[in-house]
Order: sequence, then C-alpha cells, then structure tokens
Amino acid sequence: ENPLGVHLRAMGLGNDHVAVEAVDVTESHRLARVRRDFVANVSHELKTPIGALQLLAEALLDATEPAGAGPPDRSEDLVAARRFAERIQHESTRLGRLVQELLELTRLQGAEPQPAPEPVAVDWVISEVIDRTRTAATARRVTVTVDAQRGLTVYGSDSQLATAVANLVENAVNYSSEDTTVLVTARATPEHVEIAVTDQGIGIAPTDVDRIFERFYRADQARSRATGGTGLGLAIVKHIASNHGGRVEVTSTLGGGSTFTLRLPARPPDDLLSTLPSVGI
Ligand code: ADP
Repeated sequence: ENPLGVHLRAMGLGNDHVAVEAVDVTESHRLARVRRDFVANVSHELKTPIGALQLLAEALLDATEPAGAGPPDRSEDLVAARRFAERIQHESTRLGRLVQELLELTRLQGAEPQPAPEPVAVDWVISEVIDRTRTAATARRVTVTVDAQRGLTVYGSDSQLATAVANLVENAVNYSSEDTTVLVTARATPEHVEIAVTDQGIGIAPTDVDRIFERFYRADQARSRATGGTGLGLAIVKHIASNHGGRVEVTSTLGGGSTFTLRLPARPPDDLLSTLPSVGI
C-alpha cells in the first residue's frame, strides 16, 4: 500500500531525458477495497442459506431413513419430511434470488456495457410494476394506487427502469402493515420526470436513512430477512438511477411512512438525440 496514494511511472526514455508521470492510485486502492468488501459480504450472505439447506437436507434424510424390522408407522416422519422440504424450497428460493440480484448488481456496476438508451413510456413502466407486485401486495393486504401524469417518456432501458420501480414498490409493500395504501405517482418538472412511491409503513430512522442504499445494509435485520428480501434492492435502484443520469432520494419518518423518488432526466441523452427521428423537445 502506498500511503501517499501516488505512483511514479516512467513514461519513456529519450536520449537525454526521462518523462515521469505521477498517477493518483488512491481511487484504485479504494476500488480494490470496495471489491474485497463486496466479496466478503457476498460470501457471508451466501453462507447462512446454504448452511440451512445442508442441515435441512440432512434432517430430511434422517427422517425418511427406513426404520428397523417390521412395518413402520411413517406418518410422523412424512409430516417432518414435508416440513423440511418446504424449508429447503424457501431457502433455495432465497438463495436463487440473492445470486440473481448479485449478478444484476455486478452488471449494473459496469461489468457489462449498458444497453443503448431508448425512449421508455412511464405509463408502461408503472403498469408493468403493478402487474409484477400484485401478488405480493394482495398477500399483504396492501392496496397499490397510481396517480400518474400520462404520456411521460424517459430514456434508457425499459427492463432496468421497471426493475427499479418494482423494487421500490416491493419494499413499500413489505415494510407496510395490512390495510394500508402505497401510492405511485409520476410527474414532469422542467428538467426531470419524477416517479415516487409513498407508503404508510414503518418508516426509517434518520441514522439509517443515509445507509439503506448500501449493499446488504438493513435498518431492521430481523424484519428485513422475514420479508425474503436480499438487502440488494435499493443498491440496484441506486445504480439504475445513476446509469440513467438520475438519482433516487428518500424522505421518511420513523413510524410514519416513506417516500422514495426516482428522478430521471426529462431529455434524451446526447447519443440518443442524434438517432431519434423526431423527439418533440
Ligand atoms: P431488503 O431486501 O432488506 O428490503 P433493500 O436494499 O431493498 O433490501 O432495502 C434496504 C433496507 O432499507 C431494508 O432492509 C429496510 O430496512 C429499509 N427499507 C427499504 N425500503 C423501505 C420502506 N419503504 N420502508 C421502510 N424501510 C425500508
């Protein structure tokens, strides 16, 4: 490690001189550390569900092991086996989701090039999100309502934008109690299109609010795990927002609900402008 954060690199040798370039390596050291932390977090998060799968599988094998001589009464064993099988299914679903979201996050962080930006109808994003979250909302008896300006357009990847808004609505549903409402709004300001998700849920303490966009950070560990979330949802939203030239913001009151706002540029990026035949701006 270089405490000064500077490497001197010989650039080339002429007949009578040496060119030396000072390279700031502070940022690359920081990135290397962030990557290491990431891998450590990943392994840690993967360990728990994998460990559970292994224990349950073992117990399942024990429970279904043939008893000694004579016709055994298997009904209790079968009940236990069924319970373990259900847990295995639950844990492996969670594991699958974790891996899928990790991969998604890695892609968003630049492991793969961003798809070329395209015009995306906000109406489509919202109806897609309502479809995707309907089952979860119904199960938790949360009503999702929409109050959106029609005909708005943003620019980027339709699937990423739907993922970002769906993550916000899923959280709003998960961190709300029964018989409450989640409101999805969309509106244009001169520079931005704002898609906001407001819930009447548990809210977020001021000490947590700055950290919830970090990977695996959870304000309330127990509750967050119980929702089946991965701890990556908001990190994914944040990356999608910044990849689209926008940002995600939150205002929240502990016990009083939260509003997450995805603020996206109202104009197409330059590289798209040149390819669009007619954009009415
Ligand atoms: P998780 O899978 O744990 O929900 P997220 O990255 O989506 O992960 O969210 C991180 C944390 O932020 C959550 O664990 C929860 O503590 C908090 N959080 C996110 N959305 C909300 C919300 N709408 N209301 C209250 N807390 C929230």
